Amino acid sequence: MNCPKCKNAALKKKEFSSPYFCPECGGLWLESKFIDRLSEISDHTLKSNEYPDHDSKTGLCPQGHGILTRAKVNDDDQPFYLERCSKCYGIWFDKGEWQKVAENHFQENLFQIWSLSWQREQRKNRKQAEMIELLKEKLSPELYNDIVNLAERINQHPERHKALTLLNEKLNKKSC
Ligand SMILES: [Zn+2]
Ligand SMILES: [Zn+2]
Repeated sequence: MNCPKCKNAALKKKEFSSPYFCPECGGLWLESKFIDRLSEISDHTLKSNEYPDHDSKTGLCPQGHGILTRAKVNDDDQPFYLERCSKCYGIWFDKGEWQKVAENHFQENLFQIWSLSWQREQRKNRKQAEMIELLKEKLSPELYNDIVNLAERINQHPERHKALTLLNEKLNKKSC
């Protein structure tokens, strides 16, 4: 089993019945069977090396289920991300994150973090859809669609900058 964040580090256990950790970065892999025993687990901090970039990237489930699902934890001081496998429900904590979760008592409803960020995502999508509807109403659906299509064609064009310059020229002429 490899660390989701370090390229070539194998996860280890301190004892047979304890969770896996990465001896390289100090991250913690919590299999779902540990979720009920969260209060017994302490953070495994072995090396003093810090890997601040680890929190900004996601990784693969050490148990081979593909990419982990990130969820933002809204710690007031410093938000961070946890990652969960949507197949085996194992959770990855970068070094120090387990400590933060425990301090903030997030562990009592850990899985809600994923459903909360899912809800936030849904809310964002709904807001976006509402905004599009409003724009269509104000501009007319035809003009809205024309603008969207034109933007798409310009973005895909190899001479994108020339097209943008021309568009700008045309727009400026009108407004003068
Ligand atoms: Zn690691
Ligand atoms: Zn998994």
